[in-house]
Amino acid sequence: MNKAVFPGSFDPLTLGHTDIINRALPLFDEIIIAIGTNSTKKYMFTLEQRKMFIEKTYQNNPKIKVDTYEGLTINYCKKINSDFILRGLRNPADFEFEKAIAQTNRKMSKIETVFLLTSADTSFISSSIVRDILRNNGDVSMLVPNIVIKE
Ligand code: ADP
Repeated sequence: MNKAVFPGSFDPLTLGHTDIINRALPLFDEIIIAIGTNSTKKYMFTLEQRKMFIEKTYQNNPKIKVDTYEGLTINYCKKINSDFILRGLRNPADFEFEKAIAQTNRKMSKIETVFLLTSADTSFISSSIVRDILRNNGDVSMLVPNIVIKE
């Protein structure tokens, strides 16, 4: 069974994330959306909220699981027996950053990183811009799944 881990902060889940997840679904038997926890990082949404956004968005999809983890992503992948990490690419900056991480991960393990290029209509979306808009009471309905707007 081909299992992929899609790791990230998902603070919050955006239509950029869901675009990558939806397009990866035909490629894998199971996708584990894994929320990495980093005690030094400040988040806008709690871990429970971030998890709930993903669970509710994909509640009718048996191929998608949601989990949280601490520490290295490759250690988490080994623990749950996944050979693939899924990541999205928006621009050259993402590529440069992701390239070094993916190559390091492959040196340290046999885990392959599979990259999907963002769709043109979601490539500009980022969780940090969504958080900025929310802090200033703006409308993010064009950028995030419905469940995030209800919070
Ligand atoms: P991280 O802190 O690990 O980058 P994010 O939640 O910001 O966590 O992102 C998780 C993954 O989703 C990353 O691979 C990122 O490149 C991808 N991603 C985020 N926004 C988009 C988007 N608009 N289009 C495609 N991929 C995206």
